[in-house]
Amino acid sequence: MGIKVAKFGGSSVADVIQFKKVKSIVEADPTRSVLVVSAPGKRYETDTKLTDLLYLCQTHVEHNLPWDQLFQVVRDRFSAMALSLGLSADALDLEREFDTIRDDLNGGAGGDYIASRGEYLNALLMAHFLGFDFVDATELILFDERGHLMEQETQDAISEILPKHERAVVPGFYGSMPEGRVKTFSRGGSDITGALLAKALQADVYENWTDVHGFLVADPRIVKNPQPIETISYQELRELSYMGAGVLHEDAIFPVRETNIPINIRNTNDADHPGTMIVADASDDPDKIVTGIAGSKDFTVIALHKHMMNKDRGFVRRLFGVLSDYDLNFEHLPKGIDTMSLVLSKAKVGDRLQDIVEDIEKKLEPDHIEVNDDIALIATVGEGMSRRKGVAAALFTALADADINIRLIDQGSSEMNIIVGVLNGDFERAIRAIYGAFIGEQNGGTQ
Ligand code: ASP
Repeated sequence: MGIKVAKFGGSSVADVIQFKKVKSIVEADPTRSVLVVSAPGKRYETDTKLTDLLYLCQTHVEHNLPWDQLFQVVRDRFSAMALSLGLSADALDLEREFDTIRDDLNGGAGGDYIASRGEYLNALLMAHFLGFDFVDATELILFDERGHLMEQETQDAISEILPKHERAVVPGFYGSMPEGRVKTFSRGGSDITGALLAKALQADVYENWTDVHGFLVADPRIVKNPQPIETISYQELRELSYMGAGVLHEDAIFPVRETNIPINIRNTNDADHPGTMIVADASDDPDKIVTGIAGSKDFTVIALHKHMMNKDRGFVRRLFGVLSDYDLNFEHLPKGIDTMSLVLSKAKVGDRLQDIVEDIEKKLEPDHIEVNDDIALIATVGEGMSRRKGVAAALFTALADADINIRLIDQGSSEMNIIVGVLNGDFERAIRAIYGAFIGEQNGGTQ
């Protein structure tokens, strides 16, 4: 019998009601034998995520401010959950756990350690509640002394330790460095823990339980009732996530992709819904042209024009030199024969735009530079696009019909993604126009 690794995100394990939903999901399928849990997330819109409370404790510790009251909020939340779940102090001595954490903090334990305690305590609760074994992530997820994940060692540790447990709950988000210090992934990193476990255990599927039905073709804040995405390929998802479609941590795709393990995004609050399946090849449906549309605002575009640019050896190298002087990376780099557009994140450029442009002028001597820092980018993604004629024509016509001026086009070589740049003010209208052209006005009509 194969196994499923099931990761439950913060809102899926935020309180006792959610814990009970997890229990029935797990009981419904005995192959869900390895669970990864996040720290308790928000219970309602204005609630605070437990991890945020912990980061706040850490900030207080760093600034020598009293943090007991804040930590008491953390304690109270877990104690109340343990009580409502009927976990006796004999089975799980939470007070002792809290005291250990408090002593470690007083002893100078680092920020990653405190941030990780939400996952740690929640996994302890879940393991006791379900009658599963608790296996600490410090034994399984291994980082080197510089904080980089040691992939092979991690694979080896997981495949050696976890099969000894029939059913286990593992805290997400963190692991350990060689001398035992706790190290976390970036925010939302429990998704990565789940993916690493699924890969090492050769799971049949990596289930990622959240509070949405999976991916939608477009952002529901922009398009009314967008269609759900039933199946999407890893590569399509990567392109959409890069452009801002959230739900899954970007780095969670790589481990499972290497071994072709499908990821199934599911909704803890509607367990019967099949969600979105993320697979290696999603191109079965010949009628599907566009899988998803995503984008974000606030890019700075520096357009460079230089006669015979292609013959100017070292042009790109000098450009990258300027970027590295400012510790910047480019987001896109569409290029023509005598033109090149450097697309940068406006937030990362900050107030250095003038200096960057002057350096580019000095070091690259372009004939002409144009700067626009009011640009939004929209990616229209679909593996089916490469097999179809007229996709670009339909997209550009839709934008023209909506009276939107396209400022930049980038098709990349994968042929599964057409990126257009429009003015920030046209962003929402442009997404609705593209949705209308490819998916249909009936669902996506303007708001
Ligand atoms: N609890 C962590 C966060 O809030 C990690 C996670 O939930 O995946 O980012």
